Amino acid sequence: MQNLSSEQIAWLAATFGNRMTTRRVERKLYSHDIGEMPSMIKPLIGTPMADALVQPASEAELLALVQWAVQENVPLIPRGKATSGYGGVLPVKGGVVVDFFRMDKVLAINIEAQTATLQPGIVWEKADRELKKQGMTLRTYPSSYPSSTAAGWLAQGGAGFGSL
Ligand SMILES: Cc1cc2nc3c(=O)[nH]c(=O)nc-3n(C[C@H](O)[C@H](O)[C@H](O)COP(=O)(O)OP(=O)(O)OC[C@H]3O[C@@H](n4cnc5c(N)ncnc54)[C@H](O)[C@@H]3O)c2cc1C
Repeated sequence: MQNLSSEQIAWLAATFGNRMTTRRVERKLYSHDIGEMPSMIKPLIGTPMADALVQPASEAELLALVQWAVQENVPLIPRGKATSGYGGVLPVKGGVVVDFFRMDKVLAINIEAQTATLQPGIVWEKADRELKKQGMTLRTYPSSYPSSTAAGWLAQGGAGFGSL
């Protein structure tokens, strides 16, 4: 069942162009993560199905999306690489999956302060490659470093190599 109105779909299409889809096959793919929910949990969450999928490319676009979603009362489900496996990316109330695939840059590196400013969808391995160009490296990272994002890890309360 599609929960978005035709006006809402039109707004998403006008804002995101070909970085938005309501194709059923895509919505189904983006309604899963890497894990398999335990059988005791499955009945509680039903069969999650996103209503649409978007890929913002800038902070301004993301801001517009959040303002729209609040106004329209549409759930947003942020998604990195879906490696957490705990169901955080499942659209249990429908809504719009926000795939951070295109927001994957290092915005700034401050060698003196030993900090980096990253876009949310950057994969750790890429961030580390950029840091190494400046003679730096990550202080801590998950073992899913080749395929998980900075924001997904932070939102998940991650730990990993170097945490201790
Ligand atoms: C082989 C393997 C090894 C792993 N090793 C570790 C490890 O050493 N340490 C560890 O902590 N975890 C580990 N994990 C779990 C997982 O990889 C990490 O938690 C990872 O950092 C999640 O990143 P992700 O991009 O896949 O996030 P996702 O699974 O896509 O998202 C995780 C949560 O963050 C939210 N989220 C994603 N992006 C945003 C955003 N931009 N804004 C707000 N919320 C957002 C999602 O809604 C979801 O609730 C491992 C997993 C695998 C498969």
